[in-house]
Amino acid sequence: MSGSMKKMSVRDLDVTGKRVFVRVDFNVPLDGGRVADDTRIRASLPTLQWILRKQGFPILASHLGRPKGTPNPAYTLAPVAERLRALLGSPVRFVPDCVGEEAEQASRTLVEGEALLLENLRFHAGEEKNDPRFAEKLARLADAYVNDAFGSVHRAHASVAAICTHFHPATAGLLMEREIDYLGGLLGSPARPYVAILGGAKVADKVELVKNLLPRVDAMLIGGAMAYTFLSARGVDVGTSRVEKVSLPTAAGILDAAASAGVRIHLPIDHRAAASLENPGEGEIVPGEAIPEGRMGLDIGPKTCAAFAREIATAGTVLWNGPVGLFEHPPFHLGSLAVAEAVVSSKALSVAGGGDTAAALASFSLAEKFSHVSTGGGASLEFLSGLTLPGVAALTDRS
Ligand code: AMP
Repeated sequence: MSGSMKKMSVRDLDVTGKRVFVRVDFNVPLDGGRVADDTRIRASLPTLQWILRKQGFPILASHLGRPKGTPNPAYTLAPVAERLRALLGSPVRFVPDCVGEEAEQASRTLVEGEALLLENLRFHAGEEKNDPRFAEKLARLADAYVNDAFGSVHRAHASVAAICTHFHPATAGLLMEREIDYLGGLLGSPARPYVAILGGAKVADKVELVKNLLPRVDAMLIGGAMAYTFLSARGVDVGTSRVEKVSLPTAAGILDAAASAGVRIHLPIDHRAAASLENPGEGEIVPGEAIPEGRMGLDIGPKTCAAFAREIATAGTVLWNGPVGLFEHPPFHLGSLAVAEAVVSSKALSVAGGGDTAAALASFSLAEKFSHVSTGGGASLEFLSGLTLPGVAALTDRS
């Protein structure tokens, strides 16, 4: 990240009697017209309650799915309005278009304690195009701006980027603030030893992350499918495990760079393997580094779990991005479970990022025991990769 990490916050605003545009992440899964998982709605409540307590009028905006610039009832936020009413315990007005006369009228006639939810931002093509005219129409709805949609800050879209030119300050919501504090801390001066655990499917997706972390961490524990590209780059036989041939030189370069920087890299020293991804069965333990012909590694084995746990036990800070095995298919979740348990029983400050990692932690009921689980998949990856996120850059720096 370039520039200051400290952003102006909703807590710096005097919201009393003001209409406050709040960009939230209500991109929730729907099932038969009902909200199937309300985690993201719940995550927005602290900011909304803060504004309501100060007698401000929250005007909520979000995208949902990919309607590609035209109204589509399959992506309406109406079911979210219903769930939000129940969660907030206060009235939530809903308007069928996020800009225009009806929305403006509604924004001016809210009564104390009431919130307004706007229809899907992506029903207008201007949202994803970061169109300044669309942003100006949104800005007409409010006197102040708060962005609490961390999951959307890596996209230069009108409601997170262009709109900010209309508000001074453009502020971070409470959830956004927490994300920037925790993730920013991982790039600042985290307590040592600093251990990064990386997994997931694709090396190519994580190259920037690894490069940004290498000069900062003391140890890097690599599992998941990506570990096989690294093992292969070291000349180890990995059977039919997933190897990204194009990433082999990159992986070799990373291993060399780690060696010269004195970073301890741990790759799997044993595995839980199967015949194929389609038919993983119960799997069997491959006791060494090399995997026999015709078998594919789908999880780290018990010796690797123990080696990872030893590094984690003494860590001051742990960052975890990406499951270390095919966690959706038991017993290939056991490696990720062992890692999660090692983290929560350590004294380390613990931060998890990435949608799959969050899902794995939720399935183990261990998410609450982490210091912070990021709500942004792509956004947290880009943040930790050191990229500038348009929706964070657009917020006003704290001087
Ligand atoms: P990513 O989105 O890159 O973080 O990848 C996460 C996905 O990688 C999850 O669906 C995991 O089940 C999967 N995964 C983890 N380890 C392996 C493995 N050894 N082989 C194949 N897929 C894996």
